[in-house]
Amino acid sequence: MTFAMPRLSFLGAARTVTGSQYLLEANGTLLMVDCGLYQGEKALRLRNWAEPEFDPARVRWLILTHTHLDHVGRVPRLVKQGFRGCIFCTPPTRALAELMLKDSAHLQKEDAGYFNRKGYTKHKPALPLYDEQDVEDALGLFEETPLGEERELTKGVRFVFRDAGHILGAASAEIIVGGDGAGVNGREWRIVFSGDIGRFDAVLAKDPEPAPDADFIVMESTYGSREHDETSVLDQLEAVLKSTFSRGGVLLVPAFAVSRAQQMIFLMEELVTTGRMRPFPIHLDSPMAVDATLIYSRFPDHHRVSLRSIGGGSVLYGKWVHLHKSRKESEALNEIRGPAVIVSSSGMLAGGRILHHCRVRLPHAENTLLITGYQAATTLGRALLDGARRVRIHKQEVAVRAAVDELRGMSGHADSSELLRWLARIEAPPRCVFITHGEEESAFALAERIRKERGFKTHVPSIGESVELGTSE
Ligand SMILES: [Zn+2]
Repeated sequence: MTFAMPRLSFLGAARTVTGSQYLLEANGTLLMVDCGLYQGEKALRLRNWAEPEFDPARVRWLILTHTHLDHVGRVPRLVKQGFRGCIFCTPPTRALAELMLKDSAHLQKEDAGYFNRKGYTKHKPALPLYDEQDVEDALGLFEETPLGEERELTKGVRFVFRDAGHILGAASAEIIVGGDGAGVNGREWRIVFSGDIGRFDAVLAKDPEPAPDADFIVMESTYGSREHDETSVLDQLEAVLKSTFSRGGVLLVPAFAVSRAQQMIFLMEELVTTGRMRPFPIHLDSPMAVDATLIYSRFPDHHRVSLRSIGGGSVLYGKWVHLHKSRKESEALNEIRGPAVIVSSSGMLAGGRILHHCRVRLPHAENTLLITGYQAATTLGRALLDGARRVRIHKQEVAVRAAVDELRGMSGHADSSELLRWLARIEAPPRCVFITHGEEESAFALAERIRKERGFKTHVPSIGESVELGTSE
């Protein structure tokens, strides 16, 4: 009997950073890894609407590395298009995915409504990519798989998750196809998908587990050509807090609801518990961030906050942390005076409650706005970082007299050296390392570095490229 060689197709996040999606054809079945949204430029976003190059009903399994939308954001769309297989992810990813996908469906609906009102659409009416029901249908297919537990999907196909750091629940997936009685003459292929690799010694997230020996490795390269700033995040944060509080001000922190908001609370708690600062109130004002914080607290083994040392409670909602979900509570924050911190979303000031806090706080010199992450061009966050002294918020002109500062070194992605460190334990050279999930410049720079420093064969695939793994010597 003859068997086809496994075939790997790069359907997204190839020479770009969003739309992660890989398809592995082995032993006559289809297995997908990640199913993410394209984000950013319009030409990329239009890809979210494209008809799939494969029959979704033929895909038996979908393995999700983590819950960022550029890795899971098209899952409800896939289900709407006929996928009925099993979706595997770690338990925290399952919990966070519910939050992220429901929010995503809500945003899709808002966008469609906006396009319809403005007449910005060729399709009448403009429709969301998926709705709440599609999300519910997708969530019904999820199956949790803990880190480190090998799981057999069928004879000749199994996989195991390993901690990738990065964000709560994030994992790399090692997929093993072939082997005893299956595949080509009992031959086995080990293919490791890195997912997004976190930093070593990161805030909150654990260190990524290094890659094991494998035949093929598919790895991300977001920071493939760059190194992160070495300055201490805690030192920077302490300085900003102290200068703001000495003016009697409030520190305003825009933060993504999942991960960055929890990291910021963790850092501030650390400054207090180590005696570097006296306690001060921290207000977390975002329903989604509050839900995410409770999920972080449910999975203490998956990050650096241990519940045991603090009597069963979590520092993430400790004594000085106030969680606000209702609009009324949010509005009440207008009255508070410093010293105090308000953490709210969205992280790029593209919407959400942070805008209303900016409108209230930016005109006053005692306050500080602290940017904690990447700000895309044309966002309000970028304009403020670039020194704008007047901005428009909710159709109102707002004078900026508050200080605007930036916290460096908070990236959730390993830098170039850390990506090499992730490969450090590999002894037998893989047959090929495929470099994905990075802009061309980063991807090629990392490919070159791995070739030079490790002597491994590398390849930077294009979107839509398909490789037969048996012959890729
Ligand atoms: Zn990610």
